[in-house]
Amino acid sequence: MTYKYLLLRRGCNAPEQCIMCETDTRETDVHLFWRCPFTSTFWATLIDRLGGKLPEQPLNSHIAAWKYPRIIGGTEGSRTWQTAWAAGLWSIWRERNNRIFSSKSKTSRMLVTETEMDIQRWLKHC
Ligand SMILES: [Zn+2]
Repeated sequence: MTYKYLLLRRGCNAPEQCIMCETDTRETDVHLFWRCPFTSTFWATLIDRLGGKLPEQPLNSHIAAWKYPRIIGGTEGSRTWQTAWAAGLWSIWRERNNRIFSSKSKTSRMLVTETEMDIQRWLKHC
């Protein structure tokens, strides 16, 4: 199921192609959040800045780490990873919507910096 279908059901028109990489690639949830060149760079940069290493199979590893966060590290590392994962997904979705509905875009590095601030804020208050 594509987001295009969901938006059309609600009366919104959005491009069927991925707005993040601006290719002819159809936007699916897997492409948007994991396989898109823009989001792949975003995840690699974010994880690197957090002192981690991007897994070979990001999607499967991310989901496994979310379900079993202790494999990433101790309690604090698990909490950071879960927060980073949620903040990263939220940032990608927000950036995607800004591009479609407000014609505003950020670079991957700008988005990572913004996400790092979200992570710090969420860790402090959650
Ligand atoms: Zn893309």
